[in-house]
Amino acid sequence: MNELKELAVKTDTELARLHGIKFDLICKIQMYRNTINSRWSDDSTKAEYANKIEAVKVAMTELDNEMAPLKAIYETHRWNRAFIVTNNGGHVHKSMDCNTCFPTTEFAWLVDYSSDSETTIVEAAGETACTVCYPSAPADVLNRPSTIVTADKIAKEAAKAERAAAKAEKVAKRPTVDGTQLFVSELWAIRQSKELKTERAAELWYAEAGENLTKEYRSNEWGVEGCAKIRNEMEKVAIVLSEKRNSSLETITAELQKKVQKRIKNNTY
Ligand SMILES: [Zn+2]
Repeated sequence: MNELKELAVKTDTELARLHGIKFDLICKIQMYRNTINSRWSDDSTKAEYANKIEAVKVAMTELDNEMAPLKAIYETHRWNRAFIVTNNGGHVHKSMDCNTCFPTTEFAWLVDYSSDSETTIVEAAGETACTVCYPSAPADVLNRPSTIVTADKIAKEAAKAERAAAKAEKVAKRPTVDGTQLFVSELWAIRQSKELKTERAAELWYAEAGENLTKEYRSNEWGVEGCAKIRNEMEKVAIVLSEKRNSSLETITAELQKKVQKRIKNNTY
């Protein structure tokens, strides 16, 4: 980084921070004014909020004093700057005074581009370059996607990665070896299906199904066909688990049957 670039990034980073604080103060004043003008405000509320506004104005003056030397540095060099409007699809502008924007438009200061050439900034902004701020931007550049990475974009990417990781974890936890979903009957309503999301859930369902098959009221409810369906599904669960655990079907079935027996024993009074 050359000397000017270093100075530009350092100065603008600090100015951007102070500017953010100032923006919040301006919003506060607006809020207080709304309270004062509200038909529900009595005189004491009006006086209280008028005082609050005065206090914020003092803070603003202090902030302006802090910004003054930094602004003076900029005025000496007047390097290029870039700002991006923070809403979705926001454009990149040369300054926050661009007439395509409103006083309430929120900007993020792209300080990493401070003192870069206009060509560099426009190349990076691509289709998001403001054509009023950069009238000479070539059409082919304006058709390219932006390569500017904002904090907002980083946060979105991180959230996306997190969702993908959570999904991968969910898939890995599934009882099937290839991560596909395993569905069986809901035991209390066998026409409904239910996903067994983990190996543990598969074991529990198997044990409960096996126990239910020994109960007369269930056999009556399910009928011969229903009971056969549950037996088939129990076998399917055993096969799936044997694949997942790379064990023989006999071994897994024996393990699962033990759980069935344990459940029958525990539920016998
Ligand atoms: Zn503009």
